[in-house]
Amino acid sequence: MKDQYGRELKDLRISLTDRCNLRCVYCMPAEGIDFRPAEELLADHELLLLVRVAAELGVSRVRLTGGEPTVRPGVVDLVRQIAAIPGLEDVAMTTNGLLLEYLAGPLAEAGLRRVNISLDTMDPQKFFRITRGGRVEKVLSGITAAEAAGLRPIKLNSVVVRGFNEDDVVPLAALTLERPWEVRFIEMMPFGSVADFAEAGVVKSQEIQIAIEAALGPLQPLDLSGGEPARTFRLPSASGTVGLISPVSQPFCAKCGRLRLTADGRLRLCLLRDDEADLLTPLRRGATYDEIREIFRTAAFRRPFGHALAEKMFPQARVMIQIGG
Ligand code: SAM
Ligand code: SF4
Repeated sequence: MKDQYGRELKDLRISLTDRCNLRCVYCMPAEGIDFRPAEELLADHELLLLVRVAAELGVSRVRLTGGEPTVRPGVVDLVRQIAAIPGLEDVAMTTNGLLLEYLAGPLAEAGLRRVNISLDTMDPQKFFRITRGGRVEKVLSGITAAEAAGLRPIKLNSVVVRGFNEDDVVPLAALTLERPWEVRFIEMMPFGSVADFAEAGVVKSQEIQIAIEAALGPLQPLDLSGGEPARTFRLPSASGTVGLISPVSQPFCAKCGRLRLTADGRLRLCLLRDDEADLLTPLRRGATYDEIREIFRTAAFRRPFGHALAEKMFPQARVMIQIGG
């Protein structure tokens, strides 16, 4: 499956829920978020049908996200059923890690291959502030559990927010000296009601790179090119790698082959644009499997190219918790 610009579409990110057990400052507003009632979200059988359609159209990698994917009731069984869909080679998850202490083993056994765990700081107080109430010890236990369960490679995602955690970039990058992890620093993106906050507090990758190199030595670029948005580096004699993800300062639209399925059944065609196609309504109105496949394929084909952050046109319809990253 290709879009109108010839970009091959092999990756689908699936939001399993719009709920979360944290409330990160860049992802959702402090209050006033509009959570959908359960009946407006994809049920397991609807979600599985859409993933089957995607796999039949050529999607081979899925990433489960949220909100927080681990809070979806029955997540382990759902992962088992997703992993069994013919054509899927890789089932991964992006999670805040809080529940991995209990779920890493069962998820791995159900067919999950690997996890990206979000960790913006290892300082308990800063973590509490950035997540509006979270306990970092739980995430650290979750990382240990993920490793023990064989979920590899472990990638840690860190959104850098000025005034919150820019001083944590160096200790986080230093984790890669001893551990075979990929620690990835992500430029904060502006969405909806938190767009002004994100725009004001963004720390560009170049600044992050300079801070890491000043403290820990040169970041040697690695050629790991694939469809990945991260540019990857290694510190001198490190076990792991450092990634820089720069959607604001260095958009990677030309290589982007990602589709996103929201928890309320919309196919989102670009992370940073509001273009979406409704799959839930036709599904519930009794569209046939072939009709759904055609709606999916046609929508995917019209994926737009490029975002307009530089012109200060920010996606308005959703904040990140309602998309999944
Ligand atoms: N709850 C899970 C987690 O935190 O990993 C999955 C969903 S979360 C929306 C997915 C990723 O998006 C996380 O790594 C999070 O840090 C990142 N994220 C959230 N809001 C963001 C923003 N405004 N800009 C950049 N990344 C963001
Ligand atoms: Fe929840 Fe993840 Fe958003 Fe934080 S980034 S509020 S953990 S969905």
